[in-house]
Amino acid sequence: MALSLSAPCPASDWSQVARSGIRLHYSRDSGPVLADHVLDVLVEGRSEVARSLGGLDQVPIEAYLAQTSEQFHELSNHRVPHWGAGVAFPDSRTLVLRSLPGQSDELVQAARHELSHILLHAAVSKTAVRIPVWFNEGVAMWVAHEWRFHQSFEVLFAALGLGVLPLAEIESVLSFGSARAHLAYTESLLAVLLLVELGGHGAIPDMVDALSRGVSFDVALFQTTGMTPSAFESEFQCYVGRRFGPWAVLTTPEAIWLAVSLMILLCYVAIRFRNRARTAAWEDEDPLDALPLKLRLKVRRARRSGESRDEH
Ligand SMILES: [Zn+2]
Repeated sequence: MALSLSAPCPASDWSQVARSGIRLHYSRDSGPVLADHVLDVLVEGRSEVARSLGGLDQVPIEAYLAQTSEQFHELSNHRVPHWGAGVAFPDSRTLVLRSLPGQSDELVQAARHELSHILLHAAVSKTAVRIPVWFNEGVAMWVAHEWRFHQSFEVLFAALGLGVLPLAEIESVLSFGSARAHLAYTESLLAVLLLVELGGHGAIPDMVDALSRGVSFDVALFQTTGMTPSAFESEFQCYVGRRFGPWAVLTTPEAIWLAVSLMILLCYVAIRFRNRARTAAWEDEDPLDALPLKLRLKVRRARRSGESRDEH
């Protein structure tokens, strides 16, 4: 998420640690060990993101690590909806991350996502080029490898029910509720994946390079995909249908694993049910039935004579 607001001010009792042009501010509750780890994540993440976007400049960055939700909302000027996990202030090359205990993958993803906003903004800030929100967010998710299985279902439900959001509507994502915002982010990533499918592996670095040279977004899109914005929008709607039609979702590896797991569970329940029925049948059975006929008749005769003796 990227906000064009003034950056947060460090509180006086915060500590800081710096390396390779990144300064991380952290509260005493976080401690220096965690701060060092987060600084490593940021330094490595900045190199990775710069390389993925085509060798962008690794600009100096101010970062904040919020230990609590209150700190996070205070540092982000209370402008981030409750679903936000990180925020960037690209004008001042500043980002704020939430401390996520035990979720180091999520922290790495959030760091790369916000670093992408800052590096992309730094690359085009000398030009008058305007970048659509779907491209800005989609590229950030693409470099951060953000994709989760439940997102398939969000888009599937949208494709079947509410309808897929037009890319232009994603401009106002910050005013969306949680479910619609998740759909908007997922669509942004899908639109970037479509760009890569149409323009090849170098599509995103090529687009970023054109934008940083002052080429307008619509022209850069045309150079990469051969499509106007409206043609790309139509192609995008078809792409979502192709990738997320019911059949496409049912044949994803995750769905196949789910089906296999369900089959195993059903077999287990069926075997348990059959064994229980067999045990009940054994309990009802007369043990004499298992003997040969002659022996069975002999035992029955002996039983009958025993019973008649008892009656007398
Ligand atoms: Zn973002």
